[in-house]
Amino acid sequence: MGLFGGRKTVFVDADILVIGGGIAGCGATYESRYWGRDLKIVCVEKANIERSGAVAQGLYAINCYMGMQWGENQPEDHVRYARNDLMGLVREDLGYDIARHVDSTVHKFEEWGLPIMRDPKTGRYQREGKWQIMIHGESYKPLVAEAARKAATHVYNRIMVTHLLMDTTKPNRVAGAVGFNVRTGDFHVFRAKAVIVSAGGASHIFKPRAVGEGMGRTWYAPWSSASAYGLPIEVGAKMTQMENRIVLTRFKDGYGPVGAYFLHLKTYTQNGYGEEYEKKWYEDTKALVGDYIDRHPVPTCLRNHAILKEVAAGRGPIRMVTTEAFQDPHKETVGWENFLGMTIGQAVVWASQNIDPKHTNPELTTSEPYVMGSHATCSGAWASGPEDYAPAEYQWGYNRMMTVEGLFGAGDTIGGTAHKFSSGSFTEGRIAAKAAVKYVKDMGQTKPQVSEKEYRDLEKVIYQPLENYRVGRNEITAGTVSPSYLLPIHGLQRLEKIMDEYVGGISTTYMTNGVLLNRGLELLAMLKEDMSHMGAEDLHQLQRVWELHHRLIASESVTRHTLYREETRWPGYYYRGDHPKLDDQNWHCFTLSRYDRNTGKWKMEKAPVYHIID
Ligand SMILES: Cc1cc2nc3c(=O)[nH]c(=O)nc-3n(C[C@H](O)[C@H](O)[C@H](O)COP(=O)(O)OP(=O)(O)OC[C@H]3O[C@@H](n4cnc5c(N)ncnc54)[C@H](O)[C@@H]3O)c2cc1C
Repeated sequence: MGLFGGRKTVFVDADILVIGGGIAGCGATYESRYWGRDLKIVCVEKANIERSGAVAQGLYAINCYMGMQWGENQPEDHVRYARNDLMGLVREDLGYDIARHVDSTVHKFEEWGLPIMRDPKTGRYQREGKWQIMIHGESYKPLVAEAARKAATHVYNRIMVTHLLMDTTKPNRVAGAVGFNVRTGDFHVFRAKAVIVSAGGASHIFKPRAVGEGMGRTWYAPWSSASAYGLPIEVGAKMTQMENRIVLTRFKDGYGPVGAYFLHLKTYTQNGYGEEYEKKWYEDTKALVGDYIDRHPVPTCLRNHAILKEVAAGRGPIRMVTTEAFQDPHKETVGWENFLGMTIGQAVVWASQNIDPKHTNPELTTSEPYVMGSHATCSGAWASGPEDYAPAEYQWGYNRMMTVEGLFGAGDTIGGTAHKFSSGSFTEGRIAAKAAVKYVKDMGQTKPQVSEKEYRDLEKVIYQPLENYRVGRNEITAGTVSPSYLLPIHGLQRLEKIMDEYVGGISTTYMTNGVLLNRGLELLAMLKEDMSHMGAEDLHQLQRVWELHHRLIASESVTRHTLYREETRWPGYYYRGDHPKLDDQNWHCFTLSRYDRNTGKWKMEKAPVYHIID
């Protein structure tokens, strides 16, 4: 914080402010420049966009590519696929909008130097599955970041955005954001005409399987701290499908991806006794969800469900049969390369546990739940749809604008649109940016006004944990135990325990009910009260405090949505013990919530699902 403890306030004026320079944020920054040649475009990122977000380590496949140039798939096919996987509930307008543009995004990636594998026979991109294409993707993120860096007026790395600012001249209009530099401690005030939130999803709101020294090992990036939800919720943006958390079946302990193994290497699973088990649970699952079990492909959550049932019946562990495929040297190479470009930790875990998949079939397990909007799940903000395609009820402004004016979103931030993955998230960033530029241009000379009082009040709140620590540290015992403050790690573990035990985490095998959820809400409220007693020893911990703040808001939202939806729509993701079946008659709808920061109250409602595609 500087030699004499002084802290600067840095003011930044922008036309478009992109919060989070991950895949969607890079797409938004790039496209903002394309449509807004003369605009001031600022991207702000808490890490460094070179290697930030869920794609930081690289990927081995781009999971959303239509292949329209070769007539492989059409956008309508992708909507059908996502709808099926999410048990009927997706925003078809938003999904279609991404699908019709995603191929052009992938072509840009290739132009920028991303090596995409080709099928030697056809010359087309090498397919891993119907929607996935294989890449040599270790440098995927730096490559995409370069495009954003060149497009931005300025990229501010190492700034943790904590709050959005609202316009003083017009209610419900965004005016910017505040945050602090995690290295220098400087306070940043961003004033902007339009804001695009693209801050990723949420890990570590439920207790992870790996605890103690291994707690950073989760499937989803540990730095995905729910800002994408916390920031908009606090200013009153409506959220949708927040109950639709995702649980992943992955290789045990390393969370290595299984997609390439299933799809490309044609491996399969069996129980601990070497038996096929999915078919055994057909009738049982049909009784819960009806015809959804007969769909192709079988929805992701239902495949989890079969695993959970089989393990609960005492026939675990579930294993992936790799020993057959790995006899083929080509497949063996692909199997290992799959990890080296994306999840090197899985290879290290296998080495440390004496597992050579050529000779041993490795165990699979189901992860703790995560909240995100771009994978086989669709939690996030409720957004206005494309002008030419969205039903009237889904249109109240510019494409991808939330219910707060001037506030846009993309990637994991936006709800209702599962299966966009990396390429779809970048595409959605582009779509949001094009609309945001139009919004800014339509605004003309008008400028949202920021209140000095608002950001100075926030400044006090943001840095208070440093003060709490400075004052309270004299009473510390045993190194970290303090009677007057909580460290962020303590708060995080408390949050994870509440979510795990009351909202359907691993320790209850994803089971919850109305009684548990209501008690969970009471405990979350107590944690909320204690947040003003957070202590931060340094700027690193201060960042952790504000990440926890966002995680806590998102967790409350997840809990309220889970309580509101009185059915079990996605067995395998979570179960409502008091409403164990899917109920299409009453719940074939989206759940929406809105938090009112003036009263602290939440309002829940249903929104219709329109099936635009047959
Ligand atoms: C383990 C895993 C494997 C995956 N595998 C594939 C795959 O094989 N193929 C594929 O196509 N897709 C894959 N995906 C999906 C893909 O990674 C996501 O769809 C995509 O990254 C979502 O983009 P995003 O921009 O919304 O989030 P991210 O890319 O995660 O970006 C969010 C950014 O916001 C920043 N940020 C967060 N909070 C703040 C804050 N408060 N202030 C400032 N900055 C902030 C973060 O640092 C980050 O840079 C995978 C995802 C995961 C988690």
